[in-house]
Amino acid sequence: MAKHVLVNGAGGFIGGHLVKRLKSEGFWVRGVDIKRHEFAESYADEFILGDLRDPSVVREVMQGIEQVYQLAADMGGAGYIFSGEHDAVVMHNSATINLNCLELGRLAGVQKFFYSSSACMYPEYNQLDPDNPKCSEDSAYPAAPDSEYGWEKLFSERLYLAYMRNHGIQVRIARFHNIFGPNGTWRGGREKAPAALCRKVAEAADGGEIEIWGDGKQTRSFLYIDECLEGVRRLMDSDFTGPVNIGSEEMVTINQLAEMIADIAGKKLTIRHISGPLGVRGRNSDNRLIREKIRWSPSRPLREGLERTYRWIDAQVTTAQVSLTTS
Ligand code: NAD
Repeated sequence: MAKHVLVNGAGGFIGGHLVKRLKSEGFWVRGVDIKRHEFAESYADEFILGDLRDPSVVREVMQGIEQVYQLAADMGGAGYIFSGEHDAVVMHNSATINLNCLELGRLAGVQKFFYSSSACMYPEYNQLDPDNPKCSEDSAYPAAPDSEYGWEKLFSERLYLAYMRNHGIQVRIARFHNIFGPNGTWRGGREKAPAALCRKVAEAADGGEIEIWGDGKQTRSFLYIDECLEGVRRLMDSDFTGPVNIGSEEMVTINQLAEMIADIAGKKLTIRHISGPLGVRGRNSDNRLIREKIRWSPSRPLREGLERTYRWIDAQVTTAQVSLTTS
């Protein structure tokens, strides 16, 4: 009989893609989210609209489930996480979801949990030099994340590990580094850098201008969704608990990212730098541990994923413009 799995956050970007991947592998999938997926129909065998902060909802969705992929979080890009305005809700909502899922999941007999942590839990002091950020898994302590979102991720990593030690459940923890791709938030304030820049480029006329927060010299790496899912599934099936980075090692500046997208779009654009929420100065995935422990790491070039993502966002922008002119 097919294994019964639950995907929390199935109405979100990574969760939506994960449901599809798990279905293609033959799992029976229940998805849960507080909202329906904005851009795609769910492939889940059962999709439950529910709030995972509510214990009665969590108790219900855990019934008959062997494995849980816990992706639900109060989450967004720099404009949401670093403004300071959402700190209390981010910590309260995400911690409550994780506390509920572990306790009620274990009581319902769930055997294994995947938890999506984030590179945002790494200490700021190791990410001040844009050319040499340090994000090896063992550099997490002394802890000093630069956002409350990162602190909650660190707390919840520890919560999952504590449940594993004290209650005998199995746990797998990944620290995602900037995952991007089609079917993700691309406007509205929660979008992350690749989607926001794709939107700005799609909306700009050839020869026009786009805005970038900061001087654009801050560095990051970006991982395409398909490779993220490959890492998640390999980690889940391995005997390695983690926490382990799932990210790309192809580090670029935000200026380079914008230039690559403009090039994909075939547009000549000027970049104007404005002030805005930024996050750490440099960040890159360090994939030595994932290579050692599960004998795999992401390998596809950034440009390849950006081409697919740009095409999707360009189409979204066109559709939005058409519906604006016809309404
Ligand atoms: P997302 O915002 O698209 O998905 C999260 C989903 O959780 C949303 O659909 C949201 O509605 C749902 N959710 C929030 N509160 C809920 C609640 N109370 N009850 C039920 N559902 C609720 O984000 P994503 O990019 O798909 O991220 C998935 C996970 O991966 C998150 O835990 C995030 O912190 C982590 N992560 C993502 C990235 C990235 O680059 N996308 C990087 C690091 C970590």
